Amino acid sequence: MDLLDVLVEKGLRREPPTREEALAVLATSDDDLLDVVAAAGRVRRQWFGRRVKLNYLVNLKSGLCPEDCSYCSQRLGSKAGILKYTWLKPEEAAEAAAAGVAGGAKRVCLVASGRGPTDRDIDRVSRTIEAVKDQNEGVEVCACLGLLSDGQAERLREAGADAYNHNLNTSESTYGEITTTHTYADRVDTVEKAHGAGLSACSGLIAGMGESDEDLVDVVFALRALDPDSVPVNFLIPFEGTPLAEEWNLTPQRALRILAMVRFVCPDVEVRLAGGREVHLRTLQPLALHLANSIFLGDYLTSEGQAGKADLEMIADAGFEVEGTDTPTLPRHRAEGAGVCGSVRDGEAAGCGGSAAGCGEDAAGCGHGPAGCGGHSGAGPAEEPVGQDAPAAAASPRTDLVAVRRRGAGTDLAPNA
Ligand code: SF4
Repeated sequence: MDLLDVLVEKGLRREPPTREEALAVLATSDDDLLDVVAAAGRVRRQWFGRRVKLNYLVNLKSGLCPEDCSYCSQRLGSKAGILKYTWLKPEEAAEAAAAGVAGGAKRVCLVASGRGPTDRDIDRVSRTIEAVKDQNEGVEVCACLGLLSDGQAERLREAGADAYNHNLNTSESTYGEITTTHTYADRVDTVEKAHGAGLSACSGLIAGMGESDEDLVDVVFALRALDPDSVPVNFLIPFEGTPLAEEWNLTPQRALRILAMVRFVCPDVEVRLAGGREVHLRTLQPLALHLANSIFLGDYLTSEGQAGKADLEMIADAGFEVEGTDTPTLPRHRAEGAGVCGSVRDGEAAGCGGSAAGCGEDAAGCGHGPAGCGGHSGAGPAEEPVGQDAPAAAASPRTDLVAVRRRGAGTDLAPNA
């Protein structure tokens, strides 16, 4: 396909596709799926080889959130039967984190439900970061605590946090349909605060909330403009008891096309396969490793993932390798802060390798958009999807694959890692 040849060439130069090209990836047919995966896989291997970074989620505080994010099982009024507990003690969080690190994770994501942290919460999380780092030499810590107030990102950075996650989740134009208690602009502001404090910004999306292809392309281009180092791609887990419980809009093939589109738009960024991979990709999960260079190990915030051992076996069987702590995740140009190619951050479009000027790029799925939140609603009924096979997915919801987390943090049972 000419389209794919063009996109590979651009990806190898860190040059973004046009919006029309990104839409065309989402509109490809199932007959072309392996060609799409192979093409985006070339871009992935150029910047990340065959390495897979493992990340481990620790839900510090679960449920009872006053916000109304309709995809989230922890939202205000959620009837989902999830674990509900208040802040873990630092040593409890460190113990949970250690299980993930022992399983091969090089990043621990400390997540707490809520609109955003108080200054006292920042004190508490700072002690937790210290405990996690004391117990796990060389581990990266990402915090995901919701909307940040002035000065909080700097305090987290001083406490030793390496990264901050806050997802945009969906396009600006549909944001008000999934959440009413805060705005898209609030989310952008927090990502910018994290960036400004010198934290590695992590910001991604949730697919499958009834959004159109245009919405998906909008949010991915908006993410690129914010220049995050990592982009978690979540697939909605439609939790019973949340407004989006009926939104089963994804097929494994569509999930792969979405990941490929994200890889083409963010060629040299850590693209993380986040919440919902087991539910929506199912037996096609290994193909997603050709697109994403990062996954969550084990369980999510409020739902259970496949066994950590199965994650490791999948990576090995697919011919990939777990990234070690001594190997930098990002390509050198990004690690040195050159920024994303074609970034429009600060209102200025940067050119990109080859043709233009030089350049330089998961709540989980976290509690604030990412991984395993579950739910979804305000998005309303699905618009007619552009991808040709999307309607078929709605007819076959796999509710049997959604399992509420009953082990690990906040329980007496061992974590899955
Ligand atoms: S995504 Fe975060 S802010 Fe929104 S309801 Fe869930 S825990 Fe609360």
